[in-house]
Amino acid sequence: MHRRITGRLVIATHNPGKLAEMRELLAPHGIDAVAAGDLGLPEPDETGASFGANAAIKARAAAQAAGLPAFADDSGLVVDALDGAPGIYSARWAGETKDFSAAMARIERLLQERGAVAAAQRTAHFVSALCVAWPDGHLEQVEARVDGTLVWPPRGHAGFGYDPFFLPDGHDRTFGEMTSEEKHGLPPRGRGLSHRARAFIKLQQICLAPEVSGAER
Ligand code: IMP
Repeated sequence: MHRRITGRLVIATHNPGKLAEMRELLAPHGIDAVAAGDLGLPEPDETGASFGANAAIKARAAAQAAGLPAFADDSGLVVDALDGAPGIYSARWAGETKDFSAAMARIERLLQERGAVAAAQRTAHFVSALCVAWPDGHLEQVEARVDGTLVWPPRGHAGFGYDPFFLPDGHDRTFGEMTSEEKHGLPPRGRGLSHRARAFIKLQQICLAPEVSGAER
């Protein structure tokens, strides 16, 4: 049985961008999102072997420490020609200085070394794993992906991380050339394009009460 999220929810991220995005997504569902940082919760080590395992480690740790249901996510870029790298190490490839230009250049160098120049040899996908954990150990987990190809040189300055490098299938602009509404916007206004938007739609379906529309209020 799926369990619904009601009342207060701890957001187990210390990333202000993700926190703001989650608050926005949850507010229409009447959920009061509290930041893990504001509760003084420590960040556990991400020792899992998959996106889902890492999201669960973070959500479980926060739910135990806070005594409240907790939400966590884990995401990254999976490059087929590199056997799935950087994958769960996507953030680490940018180093302590979070230099994503260097991380993209490293991936590009590895692709060139493997002779991956045609689009068909440069396929990749972003993955987003979301997890909600309750203090009694119950977990709800979803995962989604968006497929695309890697372009060189990177294009656009919008978004973050590997966005300028990633051309989603069926589009002629990279994530770095899209507005955040185009990339992350949820239906009915947006198209639910990004991995995170797609995962959130799945979570909405199993864990959240329908939004209260203006007409019903
Ligand atoms: P996380 O904070 O552990 O989930 O790290 C995910 C890493 O994957 C980020 O630091 C980015 O490098 C990359 N990543 C995940 N989602 C996106 C995205 O939507 N655009 C660009 N890069 C992303």
